[in-house]
Amino acid sequence: MIIARTIEALQEAKRQFDGSIGFVPTMGALHQGHLSLIQQARAENDVVIVSVFVNPTQFLEGEDLDAYPRREEADAKICELAGVDILFMPTIDQMYEEDELCIGAPAIRGYILEGEKRPGHFDGMLQVVMKLLNLSSATRAYFGKKDAQQLALITQMVKNYFMDVQIVPCEIVRDEKGLALSSRNAYLSDEEKQRALALSRSLKRATKMVMAGEYDAQTIKAEMLKVLEETDKVEYVAIVDREFNALERVEIGNTIILVAAWVGKPRLIDNIWI
Ligand code: AMP
Repeated sequence: MIIARTIEALQEAKRQFDGSIGFVPTMGALHQGHLSLIQQARAENDVVIVSVFVNPTQFLEGEDLDAYPRREEADAKICELAGVDILFMPTIDQMYEEDELCIGAPAIRGYILEGEKRPGHFDGMLQVVMKLLNLSSATRAYFGKKDAQQLALITQMVKNYFMDVQIVPCEIVRDEKGLALSSRNAYLSDEEKQRALALSRSLKRATKMVMAGEYDAQTIKAEMLKVLEETDKVEYVAIVDREFNALERVEIGNTIILVAAWVGKPRLIDNIWI
């Protein structure tokens, strides 16, 4: 595996390979969720590139940019074992210069839910994903459904900017109790981990209601909020279609139910596609 820390090193490394390129962008502290994306990329492409970059422009003032877990050595080991060809780990000054041209999240879809709670987050996320997609020359790029709104906005960016890359949505990986894996779970104490299960439990409760014929969004959300009382603070519970338009009634095959809540230090998100 080639580790590239500069743009030049990445371009040089890419010249050593031929064929389709599968790309997995991450912020590191890799876990099984990331690994499942890497494995899918490995299975579907000739070449696999993974990036590890904690992108400062997608963190808001006061968020956990400095505290965000960084485990370069372990990440490199995981990538090597997973058969990654190129690991791109750039520094901030490799990725950014002063006074850059920026792209912005769309006015409606980019400023609800995560976009409302974290204004500016999606602008920074799209900026870095655009850069990374261009740098990787990816044939296919792999993103987790865990960050459902992010995935929808990246899909829209690729469409709006006519970018020649296929965005591949990947299933959410959970631990044995149902907690969606996240690098931020590292902040949770054992007791908080227990309470964090309320997120996935609320989604299971919603799924059961739908399976029993209850499609009314308000009724489902009210039940979910009861389950979520165990968290420290619920930021939102939402029922939207795949384009992130709010739904009054669940539409089977076209619905995402999302939740964001604080448990201890981290703010956790989870969702289910119905
Ligand atoms: P991050 O390092 O948190 O920016 O995540 C990098 C990629 O991994 C994103 O596309 C995430 O959606 C995806 N990802 C993170 N956690 C999970 C998970 N538990 N299951 C599936 N994909 C995930």
